[in-house]
Amino acid sequence: MNDYYEILGVPRDASADQIKKAYRKLARELHPDVAGPDAEDRFKDVSRAYEVLSNPDKRQQYDLGVDPTAPGGGMGGSGGFGFQDIFETFFGGGQAQQGPIPRSRRGQDALVRLDVDLQDAVFGTKRELQVDTAVVCRTCGGTCCRPGTTMHTCEVCKGRGVVQRVQRSFLGQIMTTAPCAACQGFGTVIPEPCVDCGGEGRVRERRTISVNVPAGVETGTRIRLTSQGEVGPGGGPAGDLYVEIRERQHETFVRRGDDLHCTLEVPMTAAALGASMTLDTFDGEQEVDLRPGTQPAQVVTLRGLGVGHLNGSGRGDLQVHVEVHVPTTLDEEQAELLRSLAKLRGEEHPEPRLSAAHPGVFSRLRDKFSGR
Ligand SMILES: [Zn+2]
Ligand SMILES: [Zn+2]
Repeated sequence: MNDYYEILGVPRDASADQIKKAYRKLARELHPDVAGPDAEDRFKDVSRAYEVLSNPDKRQQYDLGVDPTAPGGGMGGSGGFGFQDIFETFFGGGQAQQGPIPRSRRGQDALVRLDVDLQDAVFGTKRELQVDTAVVCRTCGGTCCRPGTTMHTCEVCKGRGVVQRVQRSFLGQIMTTAPCAACQGFGTVIPEPCVDCGGEGRVRERRTISVNVPAGVETGTRIRLTSQGEVGPGGGPAGDLYVEIRERQHETFVRRGDDLHCTLEVPMTAAALGASMTLDTFDGEQEVDLRPGTQPAQVVTLRGLGVGHLNGSGRGDLQVHVEVHVPTTLDEEQAELLRSLAKLRGEEHPEPRLSAAHPGVFSRLRDKFSGR
């Protein structure tokens, strides 16, 4: 409903120029002077979409999942839930109200958190989620009135929602406008409120929705589900529901961007002689060939076995960091063999060769490997 890209008919990565052109075209077609009053709502939507997408700050905010034009500024509090106190909204601001307040208003956006495993982030998944939001009251259908009864126009303010009072003061007569106390500014009165929703037009309900979690999500990613948030006061249109992802850590694989990293311990002899090893990855068993003379901290890259890219196709890589394991204990026969080897290689009395500290000393996991 509020997909501004869709409203303007442009792709999500549209340039500022594309957005401007799309808006100009639609504005010409839909302008109320041209297309008549029927197109007025669409014209407003298009204008609002352009207002957001043409402004880099607002567009960025919107891309992050917060609608900068939404009433109340988008997200609710930390939990995201809870009825908004309508009176706080209406009267708390202290702004003079001209005309009646609509009883039916758009609801707030809601936020839920969803924990996913690294494997879900790699491939994407579908999840069932329990949400607790306001939904339209089924008894009254959002009219707030007991079935069989209807709203009346307020007799005190004649439906205007405000009353004017003339007050005498030492400055003379003052005319003040105030919300009508009889109808609380709504311009209508509900003689018999619906019992099930207490005249709110909405009730809280726990329901199960299914969420498509795309590959590439990470902690902090928000998935927007249009019109799945809180139904508004007076059965007003629902806000959006945001599902915020929290990625659980994996015990073997560590994620950096869309690449996965792991450490492979190999015995000294295998590193020297070369070996073929089978690794258990998210894509099942994978053969890794270690060449003879494999060095500590060497990285073997398995292309395309990382996390799926969120925007676009393809996947990151799996980087296998080799850790060469030197035996800590040797029996007499093994020691003798190694001594013979050292003798053969002329390494019985190795020369000290100093160099700068290896980066691996400071960080076992390096994002970049400088090659060999
Ligand atoms: Zn009701
Ligand atoms: Zn009134």
